Amino acid sequence: MSANSLRPSPIVSTVDFDRDGVQHGFLRLPYSRDDSAWGSVMIPICVIRNGSGPTALLTGGNHGDEYEGPLALYELARTLDPRSVTGTVIIVPAMNYPAFRAGTRTSPIDKGNMNRAFPGRPDGTVTEKIADYFQRALLPRADLVLDFHSGGRTLDFLPFCAAHILPDKKQEQAAFAAVEAFSAPFSVKMLEIDAVGMYDTAAEEMGKVFVTTELGGGGTSRAETVRIARVGVLNVLRHAGIVSGAVEKTRTRWLDMPSGDCFSFAEEDGMIETMVDLGEPVAQGDVVARIHAIGRTGIAPQEIRAKMSGILVARHFPGLVKAGDCTSVVALEA
Ligand code: ZN
Repeated sequence: MSANSLRPSPIVSTVDFDRDGVQHGFLRLPYSRDDSAWGSVMIPICVIRNGSGPTALLTGGNHGDEYEGPLALYELARTLDPRSVTGTVIIVPAMNYPAFRAGTRTSPIDKGNMNRAFPGRPDGTVTEKIADYFQRALLPRADLVLDFHSGGRTLDFLPFCAAHILPDKKQEQAAFAAVEAFSAPFSVKMLEIDAVGMYDTAAEEMGKVFVTTELGGGGTSRAETVRIARVGVLNVLRHAGIVSGAVEKTRTRWLDMPSGDCFSFAEEDGMIETMVDLGEPVAQGDVVARIHAIGRTGIAPQEIRAKMSGILVARHFPGLVKAGDCTSVVALEA
């Protein structure tokens, strides 16, 4: 990968990151194809800058079927007054833009999952080229990174803001303070079980303060979760001193996701019955979901049991599951 660091990114930005004021433009990624010989992918970007100061990098649409982030960020780009800003706010509301346009988690061009594509490649697939641009052009500019996620079409989450448990405790503490400022109903300390290739990991390895969310899901959004996203992003910017004004702090409940025991997976295909709703308490050994065989009658359902006590923070969303699907996620009340 280091050889690639010498090769320039093919992405051209139409905005100047060092110019004061509001700029709405594009990251233009050349993508030659059947319907557009010298065509490009045009990823919307907004830069709002007012003098020197810290830089926040705000992203939604890392996965293309998650909507709270894009809803909050397109609006922030349209409404944030540069006079209230100290420093720079970079907004990319739909990071994996081809996936966002298709309403799918991964890119329809190359099936790339943006959050498994880091550090990316300047000579790779479209998704890898976007990841490489973030890795080498955008992340190095940022002090603070907020990346919005929701459950997408296949999961539904209790709305929470989260940061990772990190080896550098000072960095971890700064991230948890930003999570607290976000003021989602729930705040989560996450231990990542599969961190390789994640945008999160790329930002954290550069020493950035990295904050993420899971704000609902099902491939849509709700009034409540969009409201949480809009208040949360402003709160994080105020907390960082980038936007003026006081943090609108509301009570948040801290949860821990300490190990792989939080997650349960289906071992059979079938129809899922949720036995516990989001936010409800769960005791270790409780049946949190049942998978009913649908090929014939008379078969006992597969029972999915919680491996630890806590509350249900995520569940499979569609009514049908396949073996290997994540069915339930439990977090510990901190
Ligand atoms: Zn996501």
